[in-house]
Amino acid sequence: MRLDVPSAATLLAMSLLVSPDVHATPDDDDAPTSAHAAPSAPATPVAARVPDREEVSPTDPAPEAVDDHSRGYPWRGRLEGDGVRLEASDSVHLVEAEAERGFHWGTRALVGLVERAAARVAHEAPSAFGPVRLHVGELSKRGGGNIPGHSSHENGRDVDLGFYMLDAEKHPYEPPRFLNVRRSGRSGHERQPLRFDDERNFLLIRALIEDPETTVQHAFVHRSVRRRLMSTARRMGASPVLLEQIERVVIAPGVSHPHRNHFHVRIYCPSEDAGVRERRRRCRDRGPWWPWLPEAHPWRRYLVPLPGLNEHFDFTRPEPAEESRGRRRRARAD
Ligand SMILES: [Zn+2]
Repeated sequence: MRLDVPSAATLLAMSLLVSPDVHATPDDDDAPTSAHAAPSAPATPVAARVPDREEVSPTDPAPEAVDDHSRGYPWRGRLEGDGVRLEASDSVHLVEAEAERGFHWGTRALVGLVERAAARVAHEAPSAFGPVRLHVGELSKRGGGNIPGHSSHENGRDVDLGFYMLDAEKHPYEPPRFLNVRRSGRSGHERQPLRFDDERNFLLIRALIEDPETTVQHAFVHRSVRRRLMSTARRMGASPVLLEQIERVVIAPGVSHPHRNHFHVRIYCPSEDAGVRERRRRCRDRGPWWPWLPEAHPWRRYLVPLPGLNEHFDFTRPEPAEESRGRRRRARAD
């Protein structure tokens, strides 16, 4: 992937392209009784549509014996063939309060993402005072389907990640459950004052967005946490492109569970690999689709590049029909 630094004029152009997000994902809400609602996301930078099943060629190769078919939508789906179980490790801590039910099953893409991101943060920001481990809540249950307490997490593409926390001595702290973080960044557990670890949580988001194999669609979190992440990213010298990616990927859910105590991370359907095209036939996504989706991703072909925006990503030249559709959409957005 080629990422160049966009000019100020280009970033301004990006902001002018914002339009109502008609492809917003229903809320990933963890509260069992709340209604789905569109997150307050920045608008998708690209026009896109969900491909119909009929567009998949009947001559596509039959699926291989893979064990993690993600079926349907995250809020109405299942995980065919059980899935892959995430295990605790030097950099992954399964949060006790969430571990009892054993809902740690996901697609290979999601489990790999969590393991790689956790290992990268531990490597980039080690501590002399103990292990640096990512606090992982629930993914999906074995085989997927509805689980109490979540309105999504049904097909192995959602995971709840607790925040990295620091104690009063600024040592890494592992709470036994997710802890709410106040706007000041302060939190606490059993009278122990704790703080949101700005640097490691930024490194986590960066690792998730920059993962070489899996593309994250969203990390839902409360807007006050999002603000902290953005200011930390600027302070730590994130490139304009990374800032733009964080702005789009990390969003506050519209209504429902406020996500003050964890990130809810959702990934796209797996990329189209040789021999596993069958996956995308039944794995369903809704937009937005980010322009940094990899070449091989099945939805990539449905992106409609917009002038002045996608030049920073390694887009192949659009077909003439796509160009004109992009121009029409831009005209409406203006
Ligand atoms: Zn969740």
